[in-house]
Amino acid sequence: AIPTLTIKVVLLGESAVGKSSIVLRFVSDDFKESKEPTIGAAFLTKRITRDGKVIKFEIWDTAGQERFAPLAPMYYRNAQAALVVFDVTNEGSFYKAQNWVEELHEKVGHDIVIALVGNKMDLLNNDDENENRAMKAPAVQNLCERENLLYFEASAKTGENIYQIFQTLGEKVPCP
Ligand code: GDP
Ligand code: MG
Repeated sequence: AIPTLTIKVVLLGESAVGKSSIVLRFVSDDFKESKEPTIGAAFLTKRITRDGKVIKFEIWDTAGQERFAPLAPMYYRNAQAALVVFDVTNEGSFYKAQNWVEELHEKVGHDIVIALVGNKMDLLNNDDENENRAMKAPAVQNLCERENLLYFEASAKTGENIYQIFQTLGEKVPCP
């Protein structure tokens, strides 16, 4: 049989930053302009093959609303990887992402592989002056260096970098 590596991934971040859309793009290569909000959490799986190995992602897509925040530890407790998502046009969503990263490191330690994802890059593509970019590069870079994060700029809408995020997690999460 072909060896399978199972990676449990949790998605965290403010509501409407595009967590469910990132999962939909990765799992089904699809996008919906009006996605209904996630209630509680959704569970999806996806297999990819890499270097003759099968990597099975078990994905917990959490709801971003504050009222669901107390449930989050249930989903991140046994995760080997986390996608912490913000919207590149929304400054508040970046600070919320920073809070999630700090909570993960405090509660699950530093073995978890965390990818910070700046989503909705398509909204900046025709924005030469980067006027709509909420966070300048040094602020993002500081957080990534301080907290040892992978960083991706992505778009669930166009598919930019979505597959690469998961592929990189597949490389960075150590085999058991
Ligand atoms: P979640 O609450 O974090 O799961 O966010 P959703 O995936 O439900 O997305 C919230 C809204 O943002 C929906 O209307 C999506 O269509 C939209 N959206 C998600 N990703 C993108 C993206 O990459 N670009 C753009 N322009 N819109 C997006
Ligand atoms: Mg959602």
